[in-house]
Order: sequence, then C-alpha cells, then structure tokens
Amino acid sequence: MTQKLILVLNCGSSSLKGAVLDNDSGDVLLSCLAEKLGLPDAYITFKANGEKHKVELTANPDHTGAVGAMLEELKARGLESQIAAIGHRVVSGGEVYSESILITEEVIAGIEKCIPLAPLHNPANLLGIRAAQDIFKGLPNVAVFDTAFHQSIPEHAYTYAVPREYYRKFGLRRYGFHGTSYRFVADEAARFLGKDKNSLRMVIAHLGNGASISAVANGVCQDTSMGLTPLEGLVMGTRSGDVDPSIFSFLAENANMSIAQVTDMLNKKSGLLGISELSSDCRTIEEEAAKGHEGAKLALEVFVYRLAKYIGSMAVAAGGLDTLVFTGGIGENSDLIRSKVIGYLGFLGLTEDAAANTAARFGNAGVITTADSRAQALVIPTNEELMIAHDTARLSGL
Ligand code: ADP
Repeated sequence: MTQKLILVLNCGSSSLKGAVLDNDSGDVLLSCLAEKLGLPDAYITFKANGEKHKVELTANPDHTGAVGAMLEELKARGLESQIAAIGHRVVSGGEVYSESILITEEVIAGIEKCIPLAPLHNPANLLGIRAAQDIFKGLPNVAVFDTAFHQSIPEHAYTYAVPREYYRKFGLRRYGFHGTSYRFVADEAARFLGKDKNSLRMVIAHLGNGASISAVANGVCQDTSMGLTPLEGLVMGTRSGDVDPSIFSFLAENANMSIAQVTDMLNKKSGLLGISELSSDCRTIEEEAAKGHEGAKLALEVFVYRLAKYIGSMAVAAGGLDTLVFTGGIGENSDLIRSKVIGYLGFLGLTEDAAANTAARFGNAGVITTADSRAQALVIPTNEELMIAHDTARLSGL
C-alpha cells in the first residue's frame, strides 16, 4: 500500500531541520539538518534507519538548495511521489492566527505582518515556505504557529502593566511559544490518563534548552510563562527568564553596556550557563553538581525553585491543579529535577513516587506521584513534528 507522507520543515536563518513522517504511524522515515545556509560551505546531513550521510550544497547554498537536496534524497529512496503535503513550523502568528492554516498568498502576507514580533524567525520560516513551493510544485503547504495555542489566554493574563498605547500601536503583549508542543502534550496526557481533556486542570512544563510552562483548563491555554519574546519566565539553558527590567539601566550605568549587549547577555550568556559559569546543558550541570561544583549546584537550585514557583502561579491560572506534566529534553529525562520540583509541591497535593520517577525516562511516559496524591504528576514525551504532520494532513484534506 502506498503511504501518504508529510514533509515537516523547521527553518532558521542559517539552518533547516526537516523530517518525513508517516502521518498514520508517526514513523520518521527520513530526517535532515542543513547548516551554514547562506555561506559557501553550507551542507545538509540526512539520517534514515540510524545511518547518516552528508551532502555539500555547493551549487545552491541556501534554503532552496537544501529543499532541493531533500527532493533528490527522496527520489533516490523512491519516496518522492508519496509526499502528499508539507507542514511548516512558523514561530509567530501574532494575533492573526489562532490555528494552523493552509498557506495561500494571503497567509504569506499575514506571516510577513507578524515579522516585527519574530524578526529573526518569521523571515526564515518564509524562506522555507517559498523554497517548498518552488521545489515541490503543486503540493499543499500548511503553517503551524508556535504562538497559536496561546491565543486563548485571557486579556488579564497577556496584558503587561505598561501604557496601553504600546499594545495598540505595536502589539506589545505576551504571546508565548512552544504552543505546538503544549497542544500535543495536553492531548496525550488526557489520553494517557483516560480522561476528558476539558475536565482536567493541567500545568505543563516544557523544559528543553528553551523552557516554558503553561496552564491548560477547559481544554484551552489559560496562561504561559514566555511573553513578547521567549526570554520571559523560567530559567533556561542560556536565557535568564524573569529579571528586573531595571537591569538594562543598571548595567548601562555601571558596566557601560548597550541595550544590544544586555539583550545578548540575557539571551545567550545567562540561565544555567551564566549561573554555573560552566555549561548550558542540564546533564553536564547535574553531573558536575553531583561532584560538588558550587556553580552547578546553585544553577540547579535556582532552576528548580523558579520552576516550582511558576507551577504555583500556573495553578492559579488553571483554577487548581489536577495534573502536572513534564516534557522536553529535561522534563522527559531528568528525574532529579522532577524530584526536586515535586519536593516543593506537597502543598498542592503532590507526593513523588521515587521508583516511578526513575522509570519514566528516555521516552517512557508515566505517572510519577503516589496513588494517594491529591494531584498527579506525569511525564509525557513531546512530538512537535507529529503534531505539525497531523495538522498538515487534516488541512490538506488527506
Ligand atoms: P531543545 O529546546 O533544543 O529542543 P531539548 O528538548 O532537546 O532541547 O532538551 C535539551 C536539554 O535536555 C539539555 O539541557 C539536556 O542536557 C537535557 N537533557 C537531555 N537528557 C538529559 C538527562 N538524561 N538528564 C538531564 N538532562 C537531560
């Protein structure tokens, strides 16, 4: 039987991640990562069945060249004719898009309109869309927005307490990110528990290099920790999360730093990396903390404390807490961080089941609190590509 395959593309300014999925089984048949796009030594690496190979993009070292190389690879594997549609991760849909959408010229104009809200990402996403339209002529393309799931957040949760004119003139408000992951994980958590999503008050922590947390109740998002940009909220690998905004004037006066320098420091040199003075990688931080590294120990404690505080505030947004869900590279694998966080949350009715917590790692879902806990914590592996593939298939009428 011929499979209907979906190509999922996630484009950065100089990179392109791609995956070919069977929408029914969720199997990834081929994945690729193109790097250094825009430079003469751009290349693309393909991975299938555990084997990797690299192709130089010398003739066409840009997004179109990378998508072209993907088409050649699919031809070589006899899969080209089975690609039925293409799904694109688009970072910001602003207030324009609250759902995924089939791409037309009007939608491209809408994504362009949201560029001020994601000045690095949306232009790169558009390059991927144009490249896909050029190379895979005639196939439907679908945009899946990182921000869409958060468009249900009420006004009192997305409004910053600054003069309203900045919202009216520039759209300055909280938008949130990781929405595709939250949508997938909220559905999966309800399915795993055998409960109706609409009846669960959930707090979901997506903890990867970038980390955020959301409250989901009545089946929709009620609040999230990232804001106008992904800098707000939790402690992350290299991002500070919440700080006193006066840090800008303080460092301008005392360290002679510019707005660009402080912004760069808060995004790229802070978080686990900045506190530990060692690494942004949670695994390394845990290993070194265990050996007694003071910076790594402190980084872990700050990360966990901020996360626990946010779970408390997201329980307010959800109107209570039935289910706390951990996902993302850290959430799915770090039993240490989960254990420490749950240690703060006895007052919300959570008690860790240590054996279950240790078992729920490396792709295993599971409940990690004791049977007599008033609320449950669980681990659910995320799969943003599959969510994009599902939306793409549905909106393409497949
Ligand atoms: P991204 O946001 O780039 O998609 P991931 O979701 O892949 O990131 O998460 C990467 C993070 O997950 C890194 O900090 C990594 O150290 C952490 N991580 C992965 N495996 C483990 C583990 N076994 N223990 C602790 N942290 C882990």
